[in-house]
Order: sequence, then C-alpha cells, then structure tokens
Amino acid sequence: MGYLKSMPSKDGFFGDFGGAFIPPQLEPHFKEIGEAYERLSVDSSYIAELRYIRKHFQGRPTPVQHAKNLSIEMGGAQIYLKREDLNHTGAHKLNHCMGEALLAKFMGKKKLIAETGAGQHGVALATAAAYFGMECEIHMGEVDIAKEHPNVVRMKLLGATVVPVSFGAKTLKEAVDSAFMSYLEQTEDAIYAIGSVVGPHPFPKMVRDFQSVLGYEARDQFHEMTGNDPDHVVACVGGGSNAMGIFSGFIDNEDVKLHGVEPHGTGTELGKHAATITYGEPGEIHGFKCIMLKDDKGEPAPVHSIASGLDYPGVGPEHSYLHTIGKVHYGSASDEETLKAFYALSRYEGIIPALESSHAVAYAMKMAMSHPGESILVNLSGRGDKDIDYVTEKFGFGDDFKL
Ligand SMILES: *Cc1c(COP(=O)(O)O)cnc(C)c1O
Repeated sequence: MGYLKSMPSKDGFFGDFGGAFIPPQLEPHFKEIGEAYERLSVDSSYIAELRYIRKHFQGRPTPVQHAKNLSIEMGGAQIYLKREDLNHTGAHKLNHCMGEALLAKFMGKKKLIAETGAGQHGVALATAAAYFGMECEIHMGEVDIAKEHPNVVRMKLLGATVVPVSFGAKTLKEAVDSAFMSYLEQTEDAIYAIGSVVGPHPFPKMVRDFQSVLGYEARDQFHEMTGNDPDHVVACVGGGSNAMGIFSGFIDNEDVKLHGVEPHGTGTELGKHAATITYGEPGEIHGFKCIMLKDDKGEPAPVHSIASGLDYPGVGPEHSYLHTIGKVHYGSASDEETLKAFYALSRYEGIIPALESSHAVAYAMKMAMSHPGESILVNLSGRGDKDIDYVTEKFGFGDDFKL
C-alpha cells in the first residue's frame, strides 16, 4: 500500500498528530463531512465533475518550467518551477476550495463558511461559491480587514458576506472562533471549509487529497521534460497545503528528497518568525494536535513572517509526522533571503512570485550552489501581484539586490 492510502488512520491521526478535538456539538457535523468525503472521493460523477472544473475553469494542468536563467545565475543545480501561480485566482488554494464546494453541492448544502487571515482563503472560497451559485460567509478580524483591503473588495465583488470580528486581538484566531460559532447555528444548510491541511479531521486528509493533483501533474511533467525524477522537491510551509500537494507526487519515491521551507522572519526569538517545526513542540491548537510554537503560558505564540500566508503558530499534523519520522527535511528562509528571491525571480525569469512562494525559491537558490549537477523542483504556490505595493513601498525595486 502506498503512503497516501495508509495515512491518516481512520480517526484522522498521523502518528501522534491530528485527530479532532472539538466541542461535542460540532462532532456529528465534522463526522458528516468526513463520511460524505469518503463516499464521494470514489464516486465517478463527483470525480468527473471535479476533473471538468480543473480543466475548464481553473486552467489545469499548470505547467512546469525550467528556470534556465536563474539556474545559470546560481551556477549549480538546475531549478524547475511548478507554476501554481497560473492556476485561476493566482495560487494553489483554489484546488481545495473547488473540491470542498463540490462536496457541499453533492451534500445538498447551499452555503460555505470559513475564516480568513490575510484574505487569500476567503477569496478562493468566494470564487468557488460564485461558481456554484452558493452563499459564502467569511469571518475576518477587524485588524486584518484594515490591512488586507484589496482582498476584502475581491470577496465582496464575488458576492461573499464578510463578517468583521471585533473581539480579542481581532485577527485569525478570533476569526476561527467566530466562524465555528456561526457554523454551529447553520449546520443544516452550510459546510465549514478549512483553508489548509490543518484543523480537525477530516480536513488535513481532504485538503491534501485535493491538492495532490498538482503533485501528480508535476511528477509526470518533470519526467516528460527530463526523462528523470527530480533530486529534490521544495515547497513553503504555512499550514502546509501546497507542500503536501507537491509531496504527494513523490512521497513513495525513495530517491526524491523532500524539503519544507518555514518562514524564519527576522530572528530566532519568539515573535520574530513562524518556523513552527524548527523551534516548536507538540501541542494542541484549533482542534488538532501538531508541532506548534507556544508562549511561556503554553498558548499559541505570536508569530511573524514577511508573507502573511505563512504566519501561523501551528502546522499541519501530517508535516509534524513527516518531520518526526525524518521523511521530509524542514529548513527555513529569512525575510531578507525571501526578498532577494522575490527580486531575482522577477528579474531573471519574468515571474513576480508571492512572498510565500519566494521562501521556497530562496531555499532552492541557497541549495543550488552546493548541489551542482542535481535538479530541484520548486512549487511556485502563487503569484506576487498582491505583494508588489508592500514590497516596493517598504524595500524599493531591488535595484541594488545581489545574488
Ligand atoms: C496561503 C498560501 C500559502 C500558505 O499555505 P499552505 O497551506 O502552507 O500552502 C502559500 N503560498 C501561497 C501563494 C498562499 O496563498
């Protein structure tokens, strides 16, 4: 049996990590979603419709590109990019949002509920809801609403209701609580749709399976281009969905080394980074067990990353497990290295990458120099249009950046 079929266990555990630690009132509803998914994931009409959507709405398959210029500049390994920036809406997130919304449709639900931090998941889910003619309710902290104005505008244009969350720190954690409470009141009509391989079972498994499409595509495309498997596969890790997507294509292949890249921010102290696996310890957050960053009271610690899609004090349970068994190596890239990669990919390849994805590019650039003759496949999880104002206002146009 392949790895993906063997994990997680029936109750959603990856070794010691995962599970569903939720209020008893929510248990039957998460169970309903899990059972529907198990049934539909082998249902031919569900599968056929998902395939149709991927091809004709999302524009899949996205290409794999040999980053020739950047490889020459780095003077070592050959760098390849899986171009998820070309997926509709400009990132990998739509892969699982369309799957979740289609699940809702087959379950006879009319509404999608979720929280969003920076707004990327909210926009992807609002897109899926519009496609299916469903309602969409996105909970977002007031602090994030002020910071991420363009994504709030996008969600509203797509027809979603954005619910401002005004208690506590008014950011992602409170948005999760608010979304859970709202879902509890409308479980008949709605499903909850999580935005990464995190949260209670069945979401880490379900989101991974939806994202695996990009890994299978990448494996076949890389093979067709080079006649070989890549030596290394690299992806950034926030919650870890784009990474599990690309790892899925290679996880049963012992010859391919897998690397997850965490945001090292501006320093090693708590609050300056979001390098969860690098510095964290086992714990429980948002209804599941994983490696997490804790403050001195054992609560989720404050985190920082230049990429708002990566600043989460927990990480997917499967990544926690794959780290523990040594199957995936987890490294990191600092804000500074990430910026350099952002400028380099723009300048040398004509691709402005998302700051999240720039972490993976930065790591591949560091690795390339010490691995001549080898090949590195990077998951370019999204495009950087959303980041250009922030980067150029704060750091300029990279005229003096050096490799
Ligand atoms: C949200 C996001 C991420 C982080 O999410 P994962 O679940 O860790 O993949 C990475 N890249 C982009 C472009 C994103 O929008």
